[in-house]
Amino acid sequence: MRRAIHILPALLLVVTVTCAQTNDRDVLYQTSTIGALLQGVYDGDTTIGELRAHGDVGLGTINCLDGELVVLDGRFFTVEHSGRVRELPPETLTPFAAVTWFERDQGGLLQDITGLGALTSRLDAVLGSVNLCYTVRITGRFDYIKTRSVPRQEPPYRPLAEVVSEQAIFEFSDVSGTIVGFRMPPYVTGINVPGWHLHFLADDLSGGGHLLDCRASEATAQIDESDEIMLVLPHTESFLTCPLAPAEADNADLHAVEKDPDGDG
Ligand SMILES: [Zn+2]
Repeated sequence: MRRAIHILPALLLVVTVTCAQTNDRDVLYQTSTIGALLQGVYDGDTTIGELRAHGDVGLGTINCLDGELVVLDGRFFTVEHSGRVRELPPETLTPFAAVTWFERDQGGLLQDITGLGALTSRLDAVLGSVNLCYTVRITGRFDYIKTRSVPRQEPPYRPLAEVVSEQAIFEFSDVSGTIVGFRMPPYVTGINVPGWHLHFLADDLSGGGHLLDCRASEATAQIDESDEIMLVLPHTESFLTCPLAPAEADNADLHAVEKDPDGDG
């Protein structure tokens, strides 16, 4: 009997490793929680180099809330509050980010995109269950793009809703680029952003940021479904001691920090 007890953990280990290898590309890998970011936990202990081992597309931010993180084709950029786009070295730390290996499961041409709401409604119509995670990449020449970025912070950190009131807004006309991001299930409140969360990066790296609005006569959408989430929690002092809010409180704060302040969404 003692022998059997020793063998069992070894077998389980083999099975776990095998599953991780075969399914790894459908995993959404995330560090920390949106609830912590809302509370002002802007120090993480995951590096961009670590994220790169878990995906080639995604979004988030970097330590000190120093801009909007955009991940495309395995390259990691921050769009600073000044509007400048900077490629990040692997040692850069992030307090909140999510990435996945992008593999197109479905896609097609989108026409007459009259705004962000129209875009997400169009995508909603072709996506499956709201209870799975989807990553999208939308490429094209956009008639109009509206984004924002946030100012770099120094401790003691203020809550995200306060910082976002000082956001910089950027508008682009006739710009080629990629919209990238996620549609997450409604039950992720407190962990990630339920629904759509999209960032933008111009092809020529002239700008980007957290997407607030867009218009295009034509763009190409590619969609990747993920059915696993790997959540890695930081061990920074700010995360460990943060009094994380209940999910209901997060919803109101999220609406304040994610949406276009001039829009009606
Ligand atoms: Zn964002």
